[in-house]
Amino acid sequence: MARRVVILGATGSIGVQALDVVGRSDELELVGLAAQGSWERVVEQARATGVRRIALADPAAADDARSAWPEGEVLGGPDGIAALILESDADIVLNAVVGSAGLLPTIVTLGEGIDLALANKESLVAGGELVTALAEATGAQIIPVDSEHAALHQLILAERAHGAGTIERLTITASGGPFRGHTREELGRVTVEQALKHPTWEMGGKITIDSATLMNKGLELIEAHHLFGVPYEQIDVVVHPQSIIHGCVSLCDGAMLAHLGLPDMRVPIAYALHYPERIDVPVARLDLLAAASLTFEAPDLDAFPCLRLARSAAKAGGGAPCVMNAANEIAVRAFLEGAITFTRIPEVIEATLDELGTQPVGEFEQLFTLDHDAREAAARRLAAL
Ligand code: MG
Repeated sequence: MARRVVILGATGSIGVQALDVVGRSDELELVGLAAQGSWERVVEQARATGVRRIALADPAAADDARSAWPEGEVLGGPDGIAALILESDADIVLNAVVGSAGLLPTIVTLGEGIDLALANKESLVAGGELVTALAEATGAQIIPVDSEHAALHQLILAERAHGAGTIERLTITASGGPFRGHTREELGRVTVEQALKHPTWEMGGKITIDSATLMNKGLELIEAHHLFGVPYEQIDVVVHPQSIIHGCVSLCDGAMLAHLGLPDMRVPIAYALHYPERIDVPVARLDLLAAASLTFEAPDLDAFPCLRLARSAAKAGGGAPCVMNAANEIAVRAFLEGAITFTRIPEVIEATLDELGTQPVGEFEQLFTLDHDAREAAARRLAAL
């Protein structure tokens, strides 16, 4: 019987590629689609795929979709997204929502014991231990849809077949983004257009800017810690401009396992949706002779302070990663709107972290409040600039 799939964030880069993966697989059946507000595109996707039920987080967009698509069922608002997850009899939910808005759908999915293909790394960054504890409590699996973490998931699983305790370190790679090698001074003058030109991956606006600041790797560091239960001191970030090696696992006998492949998100998407099975994915194959050389360098934490900020927020723990993530979302949006320069992004994040400090977090409700407060604090910082 086909696995029933719901896709959240269906109109974004991951969502569109996931539709391609689902469309090619006999093992998967699409049963629900959700987006923030692009109702015309979701209705079009529903018509093309035969899906009968969609949800739009924006209630006004849901109203528009209802009038345009009377033959289908349209759910609206945050409750509508939750209802789509709960009432679709889904086997797996792909959460490709952008930002901490993805936390609630993650909680609803895991709380119901439904497996989660997680492309929304922010829900693990903000939700941390609470999210992994919820999955453990209900027995739902979290399968990462982030290329580095999908790589590590496969490597760790293969190694754990040999028993526990053999893994010493994890490495996630970073392309370095469009500004690799730039000095801090040069970064003060870069444009939005330049920041949106990623050298190896084609992605949405928010994650592309996060890749340019290296905050994406900071978020991924925290994501890896929660997914695999490995201490931060044992997770390395290495800049690897070719984006061929996605992750490595260092073992107790000196061996290092690496996961290689051309950068194509359909690979981790297909892996997560079919796990533990593997299917044929029609992507270009890696030719080592064509790749020719793979190079590595240390990240420049002076020019790209976001990675340093993420490490220190991770170490502080509690609500700090949630605050950092919210401040980052506000700062990135301001940069994309042309309101601040590129180098202001880490400044806004650091000031917000300083203002709100670290607080212990015991329940999800506190995270929602903290996320809200951090957004307001970051907005005040922006207004004061
Ligand atoms: Mg990634």
